[in-house]
Amino acid sequence: MIDTKAIEEHIRGILVALGDDPDREGLVETPKRVAKMYEEVFEGMNYTNHEIAEMFDKSFEDGASDAVVVMRDIDLFSYCEHHMALMYDMKATVMYVPKGKVLGLSKIARICDMVSKRLQLQEKIGRDIADIMTEVTGSEDVAVMIEACHSCVSARGIKKSGTKTYTAEVRGAFRTDPMLQIYLR
Ligand SMILES: [Zn+2]
Repeated sequence: MIDTKAIEEHIRGILVALGDDPDREGLVETPKRVAKMYEEVFEGMNYTNHEIAEMFDKSFEDGASDAVVVMRDIDLFSYCEHHMALMYDMKATVMYVPKGKVLGLSKIARICDMVSKRLQLQEKIGRDIADIMTEVTGSEDVAVMIEACHSCVSARGIKKSGTKTYTAEVRGAFRTDPMLQIYLR
């Protein structure tokens, strides 16, 4: 579990290291607030992919349908593991070909949400969502596309604001079937 007391102490140390006074009015509650925020925005770090799959394994049988399911533009945010910087304007598109098991759309969104609440790189979010989708639905035919702005790019260093990073985790029939590939854009 996330150690909020330790986060509070370390954030206080960072404020001191920045040369500020952690006891001044505007900052006195900051370590506590940051710890509480981290507890929420890093909630997914409490769980393995397998545990997330079990959490959202409320799929229902639907033997009749093998039509591709595409859920576009699921709003997410995350934090990059290189800078602990916010990745924002993030959208995930998740698609899969059901193998007799169809997952509720709200469950797909919640899987994406939980996976994004970790320290990681953008491409790992796509891999983890794809792994969990396969575990929950039993289908290897999964694709996850993610786009995001990285504040470690837009706010510092080369300062290319508005630049988006696109990643695609493409598996199974999505790699080979032209009828499925039309959804990969
Ligand atoms: Zn970064």
